Amino acid sequence: MDTRTTQCCIAGGGPAGIMLGFLLARAGVDVIVLEKHADFFRDFRGDTIHPSTLEIVYELGLIDDFLRVPHQEARIAQGQVGTETVTIIDFSRLPTHCKFLALMPQWDFLNFMNERAKRYPNFHLEMNAEAGDVLVENGRVCGLAVSTPTGHLEIRADLVVGADGRSSTVRAKAGLASRDFGTPIDVLWMRVSRRPEDPDVPLGRVDTGKILVMLNRGDYWQCAYVIRKGALEDIRARGIDAFRADIAALVPAMQNRVGELGSWDDIKLLTVKIDRLHRWYRDGLLCIGDAAHAMSPIGGVGINLAIQDAVAAANALARRFGRGPIGVAPLAAVQRRREWPTKMTQRLQVFVQHRVLERVLASDRPMRPAWPIRLLDRIPMLRAIPAYVVGVGFRPEHVRTPEAFTVPR
Ligand SMILES: Cc1cc2nc3c(=O)[nH]c(=O)nc-3n(C[C@H](O)[C@H](O)[C@H](O)COP(=O)(O)OP(=O)(O)OC[C@H]3O[C@@H](n4cnc5c(N)ncnc54)[C@H](O)[C@@H]3O)c2cc1C
Repeated sequence: MDTRTTQCCIAGGGPAGIMLGFLLARAGVDVIVLEKHADFFRDFRGDTIHPSTLEIVYELGLIDDFLRVPHQEARIAQGQVGTETVTIIDFSRLPTHCKFLALMPQWDFLNFMNERAKRYPNFHLEMNAEAGDVLVENGRVCGLAVSTPTGHLEIRADLVVGADGRSSTVRAKAGLASRDFGTPIDVLWMRVSRRPEDPDVPLGRVDTGKILVMLNRGDYWQCAYVIRKGALEDIRARGIDAFRADIAALVPAMQNRVGELGSWDDIKLLTVKIDRLHRWYRDGLLCIGDAAHAMSPIGGVGINLAIQDAVAAANALARRFGRGPIGVAPLAAVQRRREWPTKMTQRLQVFVQHRVLERVLASDRPMRPAWPIRLLDRIPMLRAIPAYVVGVGFRPEHVRTPEAFTVPR
């Protein structure tokens, strides 16, 4: 079996893994990122790039190039409850350079960061490389067993990072236990074409037991239809025509477009999950992003939190490589730094799921905006509060790692 050695081996080429790989390589650390798929181009997996992530890109000096990648910019978000349209989020007062949420396919974001990371000679991304067992010596994780199309490989590393998402193999193999917070909802994702005369701001449509969130993706709407957990079978049993009719009833402008949902293949289930590891590390290994804490799609903050974890981990660890084994203390420090913002965000998501979404889904009456929503609509300054919570989040991170090489931008 082939063996390779590196300073940091990261399992998972998602937002957390690619950003951490980029930051460590930029700081002079030798990094191997393993991604089990052949490319980043897969099913829709979230494409909201929040102002705090854009701020990181700004701090890295990459913002001008980044904003040349095709994207949409959402400066406000609206809700339509019953017959009333209300503006609830306004990013324009945020203390960030980009006062908007960028909507960009996640694969474009990952390709962009990967292209920049590859300019550092010590960044290595291995596609089609699936992390399996963690290698342990004297109780310390010292590497990963990896499957590739050409065979098996061992990668030995001073530090292994599990950034392999919410079904993380690394965290399971490392024996890290999590707490599952349960959730009463699932989400159906689908695309419906967008017309020039359609509004361009993100819209949450709520009425008589139904919730649909619509994100402007240029020539189509990326739609999230919220359902009771496990209700997909009942919905399918009623037939695709009944489902199309439900969407059209909620958004009458979609009446002549719901036919684009040709079959259930056009409708993808996101099984919503909220969980968090008790301990994000053990000797020689750290988990970040969804591998440490799966987030609900409420607020679209999963990518953002994954990136913030990566920045915090790089800040805490980059300078420790090359000075002998990295002990557990700095890994514990990463958890301490990121656990509180994760906890706060998850608590808010649990609150919204139970106090808002569950109640709406159980209702069979026409709805009107609740008073806090009306307040946001009437007093524009207040819209900065949800904008901050969603767009920046609790304890935003900043790039503190040096650039060890000068590479062409
Ligand atoms: C349908 C859907 C819609 C979403 N919408 C949004 C949204 O609008 N906004 C938002 O912020 N968040 C959204 N999310 C959540 C968001 O995608 C995640 O929170 C975020 O991607 C987490 O980043 P991550 O890098 O931690 O993990 P992931 O993005 O899950 O990346 C993990 C990577 O590891 C790879 N991998 C897995 N196992 C292995 C292995 N054993 N070896 C090697 N590689 C491996 C995977 O292929 C993947 O590329 C959505 C999620 C889904 C499923």
